[in-house]
Amino acid sequence: MLIGGIEAGGTKMVCAVADENGNLKDRISMPTRQPKETLGELVSYLKKWEISALGIGCFGPLDLNPCSDTYGYITKTPKAGWENCNIVGIFKEALQIPVGFDTDVNGAILGEVTWGAAKGCDSAVYVTIGTGVGVGVYCNGKLLHGLVHPEAGHIFLARHPKDHYAGRCPFHPNCMEGLASGPAIEERWGKPAASLAENSEVWELEAFYIAQAVADYILTYSPQKIILWGGVMHQKKLFALVRSQVKELLNGYVHHKSLYDGIEDYIVAPALGEDPGILGAVKLGMLELEKSSSC
Ligand code: ADP
Ligand code: ZN
Repeated sequence: MLIGGIEAGGTKMVCAVADENGNLKDRISMPTRQPKETLGELVSYLKKWEISALGIGCFGPLDLNPCSDTYGYITKTPKAGWENCNIVGIFKEALQIPVGFDTDVNGAILGEVTWGAAKGCDSAVYVTIGTGVGVGVYCNGKLLHGLVHPEAGHIFLARHPKDHYAGRCPFHPNCMEGLASGPAIEERWGKPAASLAENSEVWELEAFYIAQAVADYILTYSPQKIILWGGVMHQKKLFALVRSQVKELLNGYVHHKSLYDGIEDYIVAPALGEDPGILGAVKLGMLELEKSSSC
């Protein structure tokens, strides 16, 4: 059996076909242009394969409420041309197969829970720190939704007393994305983040913010694994800095060995390399297929 997956990002789309064990058979990638041409190209690609279902992990915000008239839409995005795009409807109509749908970050945590670093976990969190900050939450065996879906990349953080940078989020002066995303690092220090690799002050401050967010996710979601990724985490030294600051922040309050001697295996990079998002999308398709065949 073959399943299709789409990792739909604001800058690029990745589309792949895999078997039910997550073995990728083929993939394409393209820049995200206007919906009609981009989605049209993806439909043509997918029609070449005999896929039983499709999953889409998508940039948001999204309508994930199956009872809503606009279920399956990208809603109020600033990405020009994509506001109110009925992305699920387009693929359902063109391919006539079940289509699973969730946020890109929920897709990524699903990939890691199914085939990666969080395999076997009931609860786990995936944080991507790149152009923005996004958080996927898997809780008690399910991807977490609610009023809309978690936006835990915008949680409010305590500022470092020496950090006078204004922040990059147009909505919140002190949120994680505004203070710790790749573009925030670049604006604060006046250089591309990758070129600041040798400046330890940069990464200590970055870890100060990431660790606060991670400690808050531990306190609220009680995950059994925390996966950190995105362009900024290519600075591998951040892992050790974040782990040690998380321990300090929690200060012994949460009792579990994972947080102390085992923290190297608790706050980790993805095991699926660059593929948690696309493999998670495939799994979203598999779950939708199961749902549709059980009714
Ligand atoms: P996106 O979030 O758009 O999907 P990425 O996760 O690759 O893409 O994040 C891109 C951001 O990550 C860039 O804005 C840049 O600031 C930062 N970045 C990329 N490479 C590195 C690196 N080696 N070290 C630190 N930051 C990096
Ligand atoms: Zn914000």
